[in-house]
Amino acid sequence: MLSKAHPRYESLVLRDKIVKASKEGILADSAMIAHGRGEAFDYLLGEKTTLPAKRAMYVTVAAMILSKNPVISVNGNTTALAIDEIIEFAKVIGAKIEINLFYRSDERVKKITELYKSHGYPEILGSLDDEIMYINEIKNPRASASKSGIYSADTILVPLEDGDRAEILSRSGKNIITIDLNPLSRTSKMSDVSIVDNVVRAIPFMTKIAGDLLTQDKELLKEIIEDFDNKTNLEESLKLIKEDIK
Ligand code: ATP
Repeated sequence: MLSKAHPRYESLVLRDKIVKASKEGILADSAMIAHGRGEAFDYLLGEKTTLPAKRAMYVTVAAMILSKNPVISVNGNTTALAIDEIIEFAKVIGAKIEINLFYRSDERVKKITELYKSHGYPEILGSLDDEIMYINEIKNPRASASKSGIYSADTILVPLEDGDRAEILSRSGKNIITIDLNPLSRTSKMSDVSIVDNVVRAIPFMTKIAGDLLTQDKELLKEIIEDFDNKTNLEESLKLIKEDIK
């Protein structure tokens, strides 16, 4: 039993969730390594949501509200860490959720599908009985996507994406938004909007923002998007890390 008094309690709770999900067969073998890399960057960011991350989240919510077919892509890690928060955000913002696994196996897809169903979300895309297509006809598992989900989406929120896949998505002309604690990753650099924050903080924060932005004029949402520059915003995240180290 973890003690709330432990100075690293929050971080240990997340580790616990990852270990549990791994035992349940929801995660790929490399998932713990990915989590560890995320932990290291979160440590450098002071384990808090920074101003550049908040700015990127306002842009994300605005873009998702203005999109015709926004999709949230989920893998084992995001599911293990924030399944209920993702379902809530998808409902508030009117987005679909799609299972998108780097190491896709029928067994893990089935388990993750069942998990979403048991959390009250039976309409998950990317499941075994869903129609799978290939983005830009690239016959590579990295380019596979649900026909009514990522394949036809205009805006895709992809937490913890890998660089190869982010590149394919980015070349497809879709609006790609990532949540990645590493501002230096290929994914962060290739995305249109990069939220350098932990998924466990970012998703609930965006649900809150949505409550506000859904009541705003569309012209204001467009302005929020137009004023944003991802490269500058990523540089600001890096600057914060450097200042923290000093
Ligand atoms: P890339 O191919 O984009 O350069 P990578 O090979 O470093 O990325 P992967 O192992 O594919 O990355 O994915 C893990 C990424 O997810 C890492 O960049 C890590 O910082 C990030 N990450 C891990 N856990 C979290 C989390 N809880 N919230 C946000 N990002 C996370």
